[in-house]
Amino acid sequence: MNLRNLVVYITSLLWLNLTDAKIGYFWHITDLHYDPFHSSREIHRGCKYNRGDTEHGHRAGRHRDHTCDSSWSLIQSAAAFMAERHPDTLEFVLWTGDILSSSMEHESEETKLEAVRNVTDVLSRTFSSQFVFPALGHNDPPPSRRLVDMWMQWLPTEALQTFETGGYYTIEQSRSKLRIVVLNSVLWAGGAAKTDGPHRGRSQWEWLEHVLSKARRKNEMVYLVAHAGPGVDERHNAGSSSAAGGGELTPTANTRLLHVIRAFSDVIAGQFYGHRHADTFRLVYSEGRPVSWALLGPSVTPRGAGSMSNPGLRLYKFDSNTGKVLDYTQYYLDVTNTRGEVHWAVEYNLTQYYGLREVSATSLDSLAKKIRNFHDRTTLTKYVTALRVRHVTDVSDCDAACTHVHFCAITRADFHEYRTCVRNPASALASRAPQIPAAVILYAFLILISC
Ligand SMILES: [Zn+2]
Repeated sequence: MNLRNLVVYITSLLWLNLTDAKIGYFWHITDLHYDPFHSSREIHRGCKYNRGDTEHGHRAGRHRDHTCDSSWSLIQSAAAFMAERHPDTLEFVLWTGDILSSSMEHESEETKLEAVRNVTDVLSRTFSSQFVFPALGHNDPPPSRRLVDMWMQWLPTEALQTFETGGYYTIEQSRSKLRIVVLNSVLWAGGAAKTDGPHRGRSQWEWLEHVLSKARRKNEMVYLVAHAGPGVDERHNAGSSSAAGGGELTPTANTRLLHVIRAFSDVIAGQFYGHRHADTFRLVYSEGRPVSWALLGPSVTPRGAGSMSNPGLRLYKFDSNTGKVLDYTQYYLDVTNTRGEVHWAVEYNLTQYYGLREVSATSLDSLAKKIRNFHDRTTLTKYVTALRVRHVTDVSDCDAACTHVHFCAITRADFHEYRTCVRNPASALASRAPQIPAAVILYAFLILISC
């Protein structure tokens, strides 16, 4: 061990003692899209929910169809796998919506609630001593007394009050300084729910700002959790207001949420969303500086929203005293290549996979720059492979323009900025260049004229 390594070693030991990190874990599961009629669909019609989609190139069995939403046995296998992987220090589960298959849209409220109850029961058996925090997606029933009755096993009274009227709530972790804020993104998507779910005369916006201000006063750190988060879906020519709908935030809601995130970036320790059926991330900047990150988990359903992917489950590792996210392990089920049996496996580990020193807005900003680097496609290849949860590993179809679109989607959560970025690669490169403070320029100028 040379001197430098020795110093690093001693420093890290001291650091561990000083910070006294308490390691905890939580699962993030999203977009289960359970289809109770899966088997009959498969036998009689196939799972072609989209008009004109009649080819089933790799249909081979119960789980192995990328045009089908989740069967009951897929949900059960995911639950069984999570139960088996239970770390002792598993603290909670984030469950970010789209519980039901979009094919159930026209089913009765009763049928939908029955399906939600079945999934709820599986999760409640799987996590018998943890709390599950559900967020509503656009394919889910709206908040109601029936949902409150189902989820009261996990949510305290105060949370149930705001949940029943607006579908949003906050949870205070009693043993730490971490607060979980679960939002109802459907209210901001201009979709089914037209009201803003006022609770005691407050809209979700007012409520959110109130909760974040209070968290700041109490020195708490906050996780923002929702089905859909800010930013665009690069696969859908998104960023145009016509692309909103289907659960995406409206342009107005997107702008406002970004504003709130910037204003409270000192309080927000992380953002966790689903909805895209893709493994990706988003960054929020303030005056050119990365100030907040959002990690989007892939879906449990193999049925893609635009492109196909494998089912995924994500286990986060965090410091449960401070809420700081330390890492996650991404698990996946190779839908097309398994031979008969269902085999969930590790896909990758965030910090190792991308060589990150830590999970922060700054480190993810550097990662975004590596993804954009067209001369070294190693990071881009990793990113695109993960994006589709290893369903496709050949990324040769992603040319320079495609690479640039990925970069814009990650770094431009504002719809307008995204469109500008896509249209103008050169300005995108320039705008993130480090800015030289005016004082430095003046100093250099003074030196120059004094010579
Ligand atoms: Zn979904």
